[in-house]
Amino acid sequence: QGWASPAAAQVSPVDLQMDRPHAARMYDLLLGGKDNFPADREAVEAAVAAFPHLPVAARQNRAFLHRAARLVAEVGVRQFFDAGTGIPTSPNLHEVVQAAIPDARVVYLDSDPIVLAHARALLTSSPQGRTAYLDADLRDVDRILSSPELVDTLDLTRPVALSLIAILHFVGDDDDPYGIVRRLVERLPSGSYLTISHAASDLNPDVERAAEVYRQRGVAIHPRSHAQIMRFFDGLELVEPGLVPVHRWHPDDPGLAAVPDAQVSAYGAVAAKP
Ligand code: SAH
Repeated sequence: QGWASPAAAQVSPVDLQMDRPHAARMYDLLLGGKDNFPADREAVEAAVAAFPHLPVAARQNRAFLHRAARLVAEVGVRQFFDAGTGIPTSPNLHEVVQAAIPDARVVYLDSDPIVLAHARALLTSSPQGRTAYLDADLRDVDRILSSPELVDTLDLTRPVALSLIAILHFVGDDDDPYGIVRRLVERLPSGSYLTISHAASDLNPDVERAAEVYRQRGVAIHPRSHAQIMRFFDGLELVEPGLVPVHRWHPDDPGLAAVPDAQVSAYGAVAAKP
């Protein structure tokens, strides 16, 4: 059933809305990817003019995704639900966790048609494991929690690692991001994990200028402060060192210590559900 959506995408062409920038394509461009259009390139150029370290931030965010997924796999979690997956960029989450746990199961979710169009690259599971792709909006929590892609791929009575990496800043307060996270975590058993990374509003004033560039072009983005991001972890137990600039979370390269927080300007944390 994980294949249903990508197959459909090949039959009926998806509307990629090439005339305006999309967050997934802008992020892919910042990582050096090729799946972008002139509107995305113009928007990234303007955003980088406002916040010159934006490509550093994107790379450090992706590196945090890898380290956090590896750590959660190493503590023995075998099921992963990654919402806001983005355009596939190797290594993808299932590649990282299946290297540690070959039978790990991964459900990916994104709402962008270009991610759907590339979903096959996310469905290259190890033979022992499984991957599925759910084309859905994070705000449709009821639909997500009853979707066959989720409930047939993962056993929701066993621990699940939910990752919301660089997605929650695209959910404005009007859409109740705290309620969305609470309802998703409520559905998971004790021993589950929540990993979040999120654009920081309080580490560099350039971030708000770049956010304004995104918003002027129709991409709603809402960087949040350390205290605001902490609230997503209410009721959970943060893994040390807590919520920190993403490059300071279990760094695997001594060079990272010298990278200023203002260049990265994103917080990340992993927490366990008691
Ligand atoms: N998690 C990946 C990609 C981050 S880019 C990484 O960190 O490397 C952010 C992704 O979130 C984009 O692919 C965008 O399409 C997706 N996204 C933004 N808002 C969303 C929403 N409401 N529902 C589902 N996906 C969303």
